Amino acid sequence: MSDNTPNPPAPTVEANAPRRIADGVFVIEDRRVPLVPNIGIVLGNEKALVIDTGMGRRNGERVLAAARALAGSRPLILTLTHFHPEHGYGADAFKGNAEIVYNRAQADELADKGEAYLGMFKGMGPSIAEALAGTELVAADRLYADAEHLLDLGGRKVLLKSWGKAHTRGDQIVYLPDERVLFTGDLAEEKTFPIFPWFPPNDMDIDAGNWVKALDDCLALQPSTVVPGHGDIGGAAILTGVRDYIVDVAAKVAAARGEGSDEQIVAALAPRIRAQHPDWHFPEWIDFAIRYQLAQQA
Ligand SMILES: [Zn+2]
Repeated sequence: MSDNTPNPPAPTVEANAPRRIADGVFVIEDRRVPLVPNIGIVLGNEKALVIDTGMGRRNGERVLAAARALAGSRPLILTLTHFHPEHGYGADAFKGNAEIVYNRAQADELADKGEAYLGMFKGMGPSIAEALAGTELVAADRLYADAEHLLDLGGRKVLLKSWGKAHTRGDQIVYLPDERVLFTGDLAEEKTFPIFPWFPPNDMDIDAGNWVKALDDCLALQPSTVVPGHGDIGGAAILTGVRDYIVDVAAKVAAARGEGSDEQIVAALAPRIRAQHPDWHFPEWIDFAIRYQLAQQA
């Protein structure tokens, strides 16, 4: 290994002490470790739901063990917020141990891009490659095709809702209407520049307008607790922050068009956008959001 090979921190899910955020609702927090998501465990009287797995089989096993400890003998259901590796590539630990439920768009996207993303993430550094070693992509046990899908865990309703292409092709929220708890996946991250996975020509499946619509619809649900894909648990302000950022970047790009090359516009806008959010993490995603908008508005 050369001295300048990047080696990010191991994306280890610490599943030993899930945080209780409502009666029977738990979160395995990301502790702000890169490539670790917030993971949900929701108990009903009859079944329990797990939302996302972390990356790689060992993380999936940790989450499965935590879910088992909380759920006892209740059958488990696993669903994923979207196909990205740090959210769903621990699902193979659940195969045969839980009923795996995806929306169709997500399942199709995983089938189309899953192996390429596995290779891309393994290239991010030895710690990531090690976490992903032996990962097998698994198909759902059950797919749903509608925009909304209601699960009944026994005395607890859970709404799975999708809007089509936004942050990915198949983003799905998980909402508990009675408790007004919302799990957003990467449609909303807290104090984090929204991830625009704009990797032309390999991956261009982003729709910022639809992403804003999804966030507006999430705001209309009036959640009292928002569990973001990454970052600290909070309230609806997390949604507003992401929404306003996406709208603002689009407006700034529209205003800047014609004032230079794409590279010059990126160089001019990125520091301004960074300065508006001095406490947000991962500013490297700003350029991707600008480039996406430049392509959309070309
Ligand atoms: Zn994502």
